[in-house]
Amino acid sequence: MPILGAHMSVAGGYWKAVEAASKVGCDCVQVFTKNNNQWRAKEMTPQDGELFQEAMQRLHLVGSLSHASYLINLASPKPDLRQKSVDALVVELERANFLGIPNVVFHPGSHTTSTPQDGLSAIIDSLIEVLERTQDLTTTPLLENTAGQGSNLGWQFEQLATMIEGVRTPDRIGVCIDTCHAFAAGYSMGTESDYEMTISEMSGTFGLDKIKAFHLNDSKKPFASRKDRHEHIGLGEMGLEPFRQIVNDERFAAIPMYLETEKGELDGRDMDEMNLEQLRSLID
Ligand SMILES: [Zn+2]
Ligand SMILES: [Zn+2]
Repeated sequence: MPILGAHMSVAGGYWKAVEAASKVGCDCVQVFTKNNNQWRAKEMTPQDGELFQEAMQRLHLVGSLSHASYLINLASPKPDLRQKSVDALVVELERANFLGIPNVVFHPGSHTTSTPQDGLSAIIDSLIEVLERTQDLTTTPLLENTAGQGSNLGWQFEQLATMIEGVRTPDRIGVCIDTCHAFAAGYSMGTESDYEMTISEMSGTFGLDKIKAFHLNDSKKPFASRKDRHEHIGLGEMGLEPFRQIVNDERFAAIPMYLETEKGELDGRDMDEMNLEQLRSLID
């Protein structure tokens, strides 16, 4: 059985996200450990970690993931912004480690005014520093594949492989695959053979053993549009087939999968609950 969950708000305490996840039937939960649109972070207390861990055990959740701030850009050609991003990713890893969360997912970065090649080099240099400064932590970073919007790097699997191969301790870095981003970047999963081709491209670049998490999102924007807009499962351009392939794929049975779809209610039903039900209905 796949491990299915969703991103949840930590308003009122980190443990609240675990409770909210459990309430809608999640097996795993993703959180922001700080405001994702701000650099600064509120100090954490030992109680934050204890309550989060206690809730994880009490409610039998089996996976957790932290999503890093959207401000982080390890590819920036501006030295001050790049350094600020390195420092911020280190803090993100420390905070997740404090809560007992094994991985932090982040978007690799945008080269903006420089070139993709320079951007990739900047990401590698940044990651070498991040990994050196966090070598005593259990928590490790995960590169997320992107939709390739604007100058976002990491939309081609080869780019993710280049980043991983470039760091000195590649065993301390993993990958999180977002289905919406892969679809928007031009990786088809619409039929069994397309899906297998996309999986073999992952396997031939960064390698399947690097995948530590999935983001399950449908896409509002068409195939290969390079636009990142999440849609509820089965209601977007991807349809249900890619999700049927993934939730039944034995290779990923132990990898937590998180929804990052819009919150709210539809016809009086919680949207996360609805999406989870949709995904579970696809399991053979
Ligand atoms: Zn994502
Ligand atoms: Zn996205």
